[in-house]
Amino acid sequence: MQLFFQPQLPESKFLDPDESKHCIKVLRKNIHDEINLIDGKGTFYKAKITEAHHKKCKFEILETTTEKKQPFHRHLAIAPTKNMDRMEWLVEKATELGVDEISFFQSFHSERKIVKIERIEKKVVSAIKQSMKATMPKLNELLPFNSILDNKGAINKFIAYVDFDNEVHLKDHLDAHKNTLILIGPEGDFTQEEVDLACKKGFVKVSLGKSRLRTETAALAAVHLMNLV
Ligand code: SAM
Repeated sequence: MQLFFQPQLPESKFLDPDESKHCIKVLRKNIHDEINLIDGKGTFYKAKITEAHHKKCKFEILETTTEKKQPFHRHLAIAPTKNMDRMEWLVEKATELGVDEISFFQSFHSERKIVKIERIEKKVVSAIKQSMKATMPKLNELLPFNSILDNKGAINKFIAYVDFDNEVHLKDHLDAHKNTLILIGPEGDFTQEEVDLACKKGFVKVSLGKSRLRTETAALAAVHLMNLV
């Protein structure tokens, strides 16, 4: 099933030009055909085409359904990799897996100083459509490391750090009733000082197993574990 994105729902009665073109020219939908839309805020819409225009397709809403919420908020915070393609790939996959919020932070070994949120947003929209979701994860601008440590939304807070002697695995500390934040470090990992500071601020230092994973692999492993609780 194809989902069309219209963030101005339920007020808007038109698809934007790209979505209209896809609907009318590519998928050859016509007047009276039914289409499915999402608003990115948690609602699915069933609608009927009333004007099959390839730049401004008009529709009438027939029914709405609210997306079922996850039991706890899953927030992934990443030190973005130097290579933006890797970062965009990670955001796309984390969205498919259903993370609720994605933040970027700059840590001591971060090589990337700028993250273009608008570009990442496009990946997120295509990932929610692909994975049949109605809710976009919240995307936050790049923050300094200290600011991400001061996050007030999560009760369960973790910092993933490569330390093969650490027996504290993330999977043993997740709780389906507690909003969760996990920090994933840059290519050069966190510094010991950053880990110590995070622990002072209530984060638990966790392992993701006995392999040193790439930043994007570690992030997806963490999201997958959050999905299992
Ligand atoms: N050099 C590789 C790269 O270019 O992606 C490895 C990067 S690893 C240091 C990046 C981050 O992944 C770490 O800061 C940590 O947050 C997480 N990570 C990777 N493997 C991990 C493990 N076994 N346990 C906990 N965290 C891990």
